[in-house]
Amino acid sequence: MRQLMKRLAIFMQGRYGTDTLNNFLCVLFFVLWIVNIFVFNTTASLVIDLFQLALLALILFRSLSRNITKRSAENRKFLPIYNSVKSWFKLTWNKFRDRKDFRYLKCPICKAQLRVKNKKGMHTVRCPRCGSEFDKKI
Ligand SMILES: [Zn+2]
Repeated sequence: MRQLMKRLAIFMQGRYGTDTLNNFLCVLFFVLWIVNIFVFNTTASLVIDLFQLALLALILFRSLSRNITKRSAENRKFLPIYNSVKSWFKLTWNKFRDRKDFRYLKCPICKAQLRVKNKKGMHTVRCPRCGSEFDKKI
């Protein structure tokens, strides 16, 4: 086993390995696998199979690639998209979790998300990021 790990380490030397984009592609691969269980149309199922095969080839190509600069550049392009989608899901989840006790407001100046206590009436809200104040009726 140790010998095998050593050989793998030598094989992976100078190769790109994995990153956030590859992890995302792997998750997509498994999601498609599960989706395909419920697809009964033969043509649609075949299209998903082919797409999965292409995904697998892409994942392997990126992991084993020796062009590290280009692979990192791809990952850097992917990260802002991934992070904005991830933070949207996080905010939506937080809004749902705090729906009884808090309200989420957007600062009109810097667009920061603010969480305020869910108390009825007029409130003066002060944004902690930019320091501006605005009135909000809840
Ligand atoms: Zn602000």
